[in-house]
Amino acid sequence: MWGFYAHQQINRLAVFTLPVEMIGFYKYHIQYITENAVNPDKRRYAVEGEEPRHFIDIDVYGDSAVYKMPRYWQDAVEKFTEDTLNAYGIVPWHVNLMRYRLTDAMRIGDVKAILVLSADLGHYIADANVPLHTTQNYNGQLTGQHGIHGLWESRLPELFSSEYDFFVGKARYIDNPQLEIWNGVIQAHEALDSVLNFERKLTQDTGSDKKYAFETRGNATVQVYSSDFSKAYHKMLNGMVERQMRKAVAMVGNFWYTCWVDAGQPDLDKLIGFEFSEEELEKRKAELMEWKKKRYESREHESE
Ligand SMILES: [Zn+2]
Repeated sequence: MWGFYAHQQINRLAVFTLPVEMIGFYKYHIQYITENAVNPDKRRYAVEGEEPRHFIDIDVYGDSAVYKMPRYWQDAVEKFTEDTLNAYGIVPWHVNLMRYRLTDAMRIGDVKAILVLSADLGHYIADANVPLHTTQNYNGQLTGQHGIHGLWESRLPELFSSEYDFFVGKARYIDNPQLEIWNGVIQAHEALDSVLNFERKLTQDTGSDKKYAFETRGNATVQVYSSDFSKAYHKMLNGMVERQMRKAVAMVGNFWYTCWVDAGQPDLDKLIGFEFSEEELEKRKAELMEWKKKRYESREHESE
């Protein structure tokens, strides 16, 4: 997880990438989309099966695994089993699953589900763009760099993101969302060496007496990375945190937009402040299943 602050910023900023047909609805609900950006992390220790949705320890599968891993869930299950995949994280596949669910919610006009799934999808996409979410050494615990996770994804954004340029342009349609999220994971993983090596080098140059400082939080005194150390590390990373945050913002907008297009571009303005009765919603869900079945059958027919 990015820190709570970064997750909320990413979801909020993604709203402003949306086209005119979508932005009214999302702006109306921007507080919900922002505040609930952190729900999946809150669920992590309470809901069974939640934990592996936030990361993928891609390096447990061997050298260059990030380039060789089966991209689609069924292929990956066949090669490694579901248990193994769940043990080492499933974020790229979970993003794709959430994408299907959001598309369905838009197709039937389920306002509540659109909001819940948009917020959740934004969270998982953001996680997939964090380098330390792509490794078993996720907190530097295997290399004597314990604490680096929070430094990179919480402390640095909190200290420096007010200086970032978050103008990422308009949302665009993604032809293959499953491959798109994998590209995010690949790029994040390629940045991992720098994340770890720069911290190690800076620690050697700085000395641990200047690496940490103490801050008072309520009644407690806690050890944090000193602001000089954080600043120097941020500089060495040469814009990486900003780049990854920008990528996350753009990708979240692109995924929401793609779901909406694939759902047949429903009129979201009509859904502002509107909710179907449970009965009506059940009916629409049944219609969706019918539609999917027919579509599947006709596809099969085409391939004969
Ligand atoms: Zn997370």
